[in-house]
Amino acid sequence: MNKLISTNPAKDYQKIGEVVISSLSEIKEKVKLANQSKKIWKDLGVKERTKRLSPLYQLTEKKKNEIAMLITKEIGKPIKEAIDDIDWDLTYFKWYLENSEKYLGEEITHRNGATLHKVIYEPIGTAASIVPWNFPYGNFLWGVIPNLIAGNPVVFKHSEECPLTGKLIEKIMDELNLPKGIFSEVYGDGKVGEQLVNQDINLIWFTGSSKVGKRLYEIAGRKFVKAILELGGSNPAVIFGDANINEITNKLYYKRFLNCGQVCDAVKRLVVHESVFDETVRQLKRLIESKKVGDPENTKTDIGSLVAKRQLELLESQVKDAIDKGAKVVTGGKKPEGLKGAYYLPTILTNIKKNMRVWKEEVFGPVLSVVSFNTEQEAINLANDTNYGLGAEIYTKDQKRALRVSSEIEAGTINVNKGNHWLPCNPFGGYKDSGIGREHGRWGFQELCQIKNIAVG
Ligand code: NAD
Repeated sequence: MNKLISTNPAKDYQKIGEVVISSLSEIKEKVKLANQSKKIWKDLGVKERTKRLSPLYQLTEKKKNEIAMLITKEIGKPIKEAIDDIDWDLTYFKWYLENSEKYLGEEITHRNGATLHKVIYEPIGTAASIVPWNFPYGNFLWGVIPNLIAGNPVVFKHSEECPLTGKLIEKIMDELNLPKGIFSEVYGDGKVGEQLVNQDINLIWFTGSSKVGKRLYEIAGRKFVKAILELGGSNPAVIFGDANINEITNKLYYKRFLNCGQVCDAVKRLVVHESVFDETVRQLKRLIESKKVGDPENTKTDIGSLVAKRQLELLESQVKDAIDKGAKVVTGGKKPEGLKGAYYLPTILTNIKKNMRVWKEEVFGPVLSVVSFNTEQEAINLANDTNYGLGAEIYTKDQKRALRVSSEIEAGTINVNKGNHWLPCNPFGGYKDSGIGREHGRWGFQELCQIKNIAVG
């Protein structure tokens, strides 16, 4: 029997537990049960489906500390962040519950005498939902609940980096007593994920790297099923000369170093007007050096460890490549002393060149590359100089310029100054290699449906 071993990246990779990897026959059986349950679930209608899912809110609240501590142990996220994440995840869950009928109810499109045309939102069918580890509870809620509300039974695979959190989620979901087959989980790495999407499913819902997303899009193409792909990012933040650096340093810190820099939507490249370049770097350096890096189980810790040794090694190789090509380390650039595990100091790099991996690739760790610009057009070119298009930030007092630049940047979300797109009513998704389709808001619900038009004359 093959097993997934869960280790603690912040405690020298000590073993925490293990989970049996799903066999091909188990995967097939779960997909079969999901397909058999499709009609029952569809016929319940959106109101009843939403009602049956709603107790998950209280169950999550009740188990919040247990879930948060397990996440901290499995992925190295500071406990205070893990708890905040679950509170935030619940705002999304609440929005789904409160808005499902509004956005998935029928819509009249045309009425003329005895003629009535309407649109109804029907389920697509069984969804294979596959997610990463960086927001273990949020990734589950976002990848599963809107699907279930829309009427799609889900066979879910969590990341191999947090299998015990996956097990706890399964236990919590069991308490809902949903009809058999509506929600089930399979366990394993990419091999299991690939076996799952190759079964008789109707929809691939994937969050993860662009590399795997592209692979899944090929499979979806062959099977001719829909794929919704939420992928990687390399968001730029553009800081114009009129921005108030004192006011934005905290936000920039948070946008880059939350979750040890392992956030799809994080600011990964800072594009700063030359007149405020030195000031921006100086203030960020001071703030970063005041932060506590260490044991994520300690409530005073700001930055824990990376998720795994492989992530640490990837980050080290990206920074080494930059230094070899002439980058300057302003702060960090190495592992902290005396901490055993996947730790890396928060880092600022300048003297960045376009051929460096930290500029071209997604950097999933606490490393920020900073470049300067002179003209607005140069800033736009630098911001768009990436294969990714998940999001961007713009800092300027000039509203007209902010809107002009927003329309030039190729990305799914743009935050201007204190703006923060993270609300459940807003759509989220990427341009270019950052994905296909949108989650959240009414757009997220409707992505998960067949849209049927009925014209009665
Ligand atoms: P990953 O692509 O390696 O893995 C994601 C999931 O896919 C895991 O469950 C994994 O087991 C599975 N998987 C891997 N290979 C597979 C295959 N061939 N077939 C089917 N499933 C397979 O990503 P990761 O390292 O776990 O997560 C980090 C990445 O996720 C980053 O690129 C990050 O930007 C991205 N991400 C995107 C969003 C978003 O909403 N856009 C959110 C969070 C993370």
